[in-house]
Amino acid sequence: MQKIEHIGIAVKDIEESNKLFAKLLNREHYKMEAVESEGVITSFFQIGDVKIELLQATNDKSSIYKFVEKKGEGVHHIAFAVKDVNEELERLKSEGFDAIHEEAKDGADGKVIAFLHPKSTNRVLTEICSDKNVTE
Ligand code: ZN
Repeated sequence: MQKIEHIGIAVKDIEESNKLFAKLLNREHYKMEAVESEGVITSFFQIGDVKIELLQATNDKSSIYKFVEKKGEGVHHIAFAVKDVNEELERLKSEGFDAIHEEAKDGADGKVIAFLHPKSTNRVLTEICSDKNVTE
């Protein structure tokens, strides 16, 4: 693990949340991106070295939809930058953590990502990610 890369926040209405976080952070988001495979639309704010990733579900199969239905809006996951997602995933599994993804997959903002199951991480949904070009 190298650093916290971003904090993911589940929201109901990303346009409204963009306005809210623009006021809160006193800056505009720098990109929006849909991740079809996850059924989400994302929006990113840069705050120092860390990003805030807003996530809104685009369909009711999305894990973000289920999260918001069950728990409401709020902090959804913490993402750590790693050098190589697949290598780190192997290390974490050997330490007894449960992986949601068996190998790295494409995420938003030019990253490859994988998630650990929150039941093995004190209920903190944990993402590891690295830049796409590093692992390819
Ligand atoms: Zn994320």
